[in-house]
Amino acid sequence: QLISFEGLDGAGKTTQLELLAGWLRGQDIAYIQTREPGGTSLGAEIRHLLFGRPELTITPLAEAFLFQADRAQHFSSLILPALEAGKIVITDRCLDSSIAYQGAARKVGEELVKHLSLIATQEHVPDLTILLDLDPLLVNRRTAVDQDKRSIREAQSRFDRETEQFHRRLREAFLRLAQAEPERIKVIDASLPPEQIHQKVLALVIAQLDK
Ligand code: C5P
Ligand code: MG
Repeated sequence: QLISFEGLDGAGKTTQLELLAGWLRGQDIAYIQTREPGGTSLGAEIRHLLFGRPELTITPLAEAFLFQADRAQHFSSLILPALEAGKIVITDRCLDSSIAYQGAARKVGEELVKHLSLIATQEHVPDLTILLDLDPLLVNRRTAVDQDKRSIREAQSRFDRETEQFHRRLREAFLRLAQAEPERIKVIDASLPPEQIHQKVLALVIAQLDK
């Protein structure tokens, strides 16, 4: 089973992923924890191109393809083999991020980006997607600071370049995706305390694993 976490930066995805990983370990369930972009060696290079090279001007369409290259490598070399081996895969972001960020917020087009994403995933979609929904104005920039300092710093510099309008478009896009696929995409209020969110995540994951 493939389980993805989605939402705006600072919504608490990484924290919830860690908590879920801890629970899976405690249950002796075989899993891998990964992320997009950056889940493979190639992905790490792509991530550096995207976020570590401020002198590069990357057009929205070029950016969309870079994320898809990351995803194609991620699915073929890591995610699909792990699923075939019977493991649970939990990922910090997946194709819905591309649809929301590149498709909607950067206006490449949601349908186009969805189509490209499905090519990259070889038509696979997550079995369960947990959307941590948060009002952009409530994003606490200091959350999760120690989890992955580099990625937070990268994300932060990007965040600062984006407008509030951008984050509104993003949030609306995520919520629209959830409305369109209520069976797959479950929304959790990310303004709740982390432990309460974790309990909701567990309920969803347990229900999914029982299917
Ligand atoms: O979640 P993570 O820290 O890995 O994301 C890194 C940055 O990339 C964030 O600023 C996020 O908003 C952005 N991003 C993006 N398009 C995606 C995925 C992430 O612009 N498809
Ligand atoms: Mg994160």
